Amino acid sequence: MPINDNKVVTIHYTLKDEHGDLLETSEGDEPLAYIHGIGNIIPGLELALSGHDVGDRVEVTINPEDGYGERDDERVQVVPRAQFENMDELDVGMQFHAETDRGVEIVTVVKVDGDDVVVDGNHPMAGQTLNFDVRVVAIRDATPEELDHGHVHGPGGHVH
Ligand code: ZN
Repeated sequence: MPINDNKVVTIHYTLKDEHGDLLETSEGDEPLAYIHGIGNIIPGLELALSGHDVGDRVEVTINPEDGYGERDDERVQVVPRAQFENMDELDVGMQFHAETDRGVEIVTVVKVDGDDVVVDGNHPMAGQTLNFDVRVVAIRDATPEELDHGHVHGPGGHVH
């Protein structure tokens, strides 16, 4: 059963940046399960995995436009410390869900300077060329409920 739209695909992956430095890996941890063809993963990786089968190893280099997009400096904003009044500690690297012009986004604190907090709404991997090394572990049909929710249930997915 090759990878195709609406299949639940389970993969182990190692992700390195353009310099070969490790960014993420699932090896030694739980594999990742996603629904193919609905944008659960970045477009470049979805395209590279299409048609592959269990046991295949896929190595692919993905440009920012097929990954997490180019960096957009307008997504870097200075917000007053008072907006984080429920936070006793505010440190660089903390991530929040924030209401923005583009809807709810995850922003990362990149600088705290007195009453000014600089947050970055770019994905942490925006602008990066990504090198994936993927092993296809399992493929099955998504259930109607999973397709309705837009995510995988069970191992590697959502529990609810
Ligand atoms: Zn669900």
